[in-house]
Amino acid sequence: MVESARPSAQDEVVEITRSLIRIDTSNDGSGAASANEAPAAAYVAQLLAEVGVESRIYESAPGRANLVARIPGRDRTLPALILHGHLDVVPAAAEDWSVDPFAAELIDGMIWGRGAVDMKNMDAMILTAVRELVRSGEQPPRDLIVAMFADEEAGGLFGAQWMVDNHPEEFEGAGWAISEVGGFSTTVAGTRAYLVQTAEKGMAWLGLTAQGTAGHGSQTNSDNAVLHLAQALARIGEHDWGRSYHPSTLELLEGVARLNGTTFDPEDPAPTLAALGDAAKFVTGTLATTVNPTVLRAGYKDNVIPSTASARIDVRTLPGQHYETIVKLQELAGEKVSLERGIEFESMHAPADAPLVALMGELLREADPGAEVFPYMLPAGTDNKALARLGVSGYGFAPLRLPEELDFTGMFHGVDERVPVSALHFGLDVLGALIRRF
Ligand SMILES: [Zn+2]
Repeated sequence: MVESARPSAQDEVVEITRSLIRIDTSNDGSGAASANEAPAAAYVAQLLAEVGVESRIYESAPGRANLVARIPGRDRTLPALILHGHLDVVPAAAEDWSVDPFAAELIDGMIWGRGAVDMKNMDAMILTAVRELVRSGEQPPRDLIVAMFADEEAGGLFGAQWMVDNHPEEFEGAGWAISEVGGFSTTVAGTRAYLVQTAEKGMAWLGLTAQGTAGHGSQTNSDNAVLHLAQALARIGEHDWGRSYHPSTLELLEGVARLNGTTFDPEDPAPTLAALGDAAKFVTGTLATTVNPTVLRAGYKDNVIPSTASARIDVRTLPGQHYETIVKLQELAGEKVSLERGIEFESMHAPADAPLVALMGELLREADPGAEVFPYMLPAGTDNKALARLGVSGYGFAPLRLPEELDFTGMFHGVDERVPVSALHFGLDVLGALIRRF
């Protein structure tokens, strides 16, 4: 059975979550100085040192701190398990919130604040579970690597990606990883269904630049860069990227339809998606490659036709579709508009039939009898993509048992981000059992 954590550990996971939220690590994505994770990393180092675990902190730029620690397992030949989180958060506009986003208030059994869901909650669950394990004197079956990364919210260039490039030795022998955006529950027709993230879409942040002939706004101009760009964006927006079901998506939707007393119809996924509740926000984006224009820049004066116009597009690709999507975008951009490659990560999928995934399901069903567990693909990306470059199979598994009425997926980067204390206790129990058994 999954055992309940000691009351002191239950208090601890709450305190660590709140303390981390109070350390403002907002990352606005502006580059090297966009966040300051160092105070959070120092706090984590102290938490680990308290139980005798030594950690190392690597700065990719001043203040951009990444922390790693290793707890030796009984069998050091087994592939190590990485428990990783990110220390940065997206910014919060305090005026939009009901509470101070960095005060970590505890109201009606919930912790409120930026990072309560993404992902200082999971950071705290990892740290508390590891501290409890070490304090018990029990050795885990295999090496555990605790990693707290900087910069996840801006693609990890100063965080996980940098660590994989500069300190791969810290992850030597690692085969498995768990982190954010999976393991949470959603309620389908009265049954709690836990979604374990086994795949992530690929992404590309690309630029489009149109060239034309500059001139006076009063004159006829058949080579207007703004129009070339607008036409290219319209072609891209109208293109049908085609629906396609990854095996994990199919398994999820068939399972959800079954719980809902219906049969999944691949031609009409809408009723099944509706049954998923707010988790549909994540799943809908995984049925096709998506392309969204996000930034437009052109011109500087009403009566001047500019010679160039540019846009940024956010491309999220299904597994196996990355390069064909780029080629298609080049074609849709047309002759007058060039496509510039930017930050790109290919999709990833970890084996859904691995023993680690089976154990996750077992533990969730033990901790929440009657619950169902399904795989799913994240339409976005996590630091698991960086670790995948080292051959590590990474999953989204931050277990949380959530009340049906909570719009959980809407809280990622959202306003009034909050997490129930009871969900943290649940996650602590499940993670504690996982690191003892895997
Ligand atoms: Zn996150």
